[in-house]
Amino acid sequence: PVVEPEGMSISADRRKLYLLSFRDISELRRLDRMRSDFVANASHELRTPLASLRGFIETLQGPAKGDPAAQERFLSIMLEQATRMSRLVDDLMSLSRLELKSHIAPDQRIDLKPVLSHVRDALLPLSDDLGVEIRMHLPQEPVEVLGDRDELVQVFENLIENACKYGQDGKVVDVHLKGGGDEPAEVIVTDRGPGIPSEHVPRLTERFYRVSVADSRSKKGTGLGLAIVKHILTRHRARLIVRSQVGEGSEFTVRF
Ligand code: ADP
Repeated sequence: PVVEPEGMSISADRRKLYLLSFRDISELRRLDRMRSDFVANASHELRTPLASLRGFIETLQGPAKGDPAAQERFLSIMLEQATRMSRLVDDLMSLSRLELKSHIAPDQRIDLKPVLSHVRDALLPLSDDLGVEIRMHLPQEPVEVLGDRDELVQVFENLIENACKYGQDGKVVDVHLKGGGDEPAEVIVTDRGPGIPSEHVPRLTERFYRVSVADSRSKKGTGLGLAIVKHILTRHRARLIVRSQVGEGSEFTVRF
């Protein structure tokens, strides 16, 4: 409600202004809550690399002062830690942006064929590096969905990158695109990696959830990739279906 100060009359325009400012305050409160959640999560995850950076700086200032070989080694570890922190901040910001628009359904008509080809090209340096071949199985006809191109690129980048990273030993990752016309569109990413024990599958899309400590040590990642995938797919009214067999590999299906 607009409260008129006693003895003053407020013109219609001023009234509108007051109303606007009341609305802005409730929006600000909501943003404030989200910001404090974001800060809590981010600070927890950033603490480890920051502590290690401080440790290295102290070593460089003290014991390693006259030792160029040690300095070089420490500096390259420090660069790795700083890169990890940037990746974390980028992912956290993606999540926080997605939360802000979670109630708006994306509405561009998107053909998934060029989206998937673009993602394969973007991941070539990584897949080459890991010695993994990404095989695309695309139909002749376009397969259209209503969506947001950049967000869909992010979904398939995360899924195919995971298949390459965790399924590296299987050497091949298959990406099938199905549907179009009256059939629902489906993208299936299959790897021949170690698979995921079934008790972990329901928790994969939780923020910062990683299946094993070995994964977080040996594979670069933030534990936020599948949380981002889930947020984007919810906005797209699409589902993520995970099938996995330990020792045989994993299959991540996006069904629109
Ligand atoms: P990360 O940044 O750790 O890759 P994600 O949210 O993308 O985070 O994945 C969460 C965890 O799920 C990973 O740390 C890994 O343990 C597991 N995971 C994801 N994809 C696969 C896969 N294709 N094969 C085996 N494990 C996987």
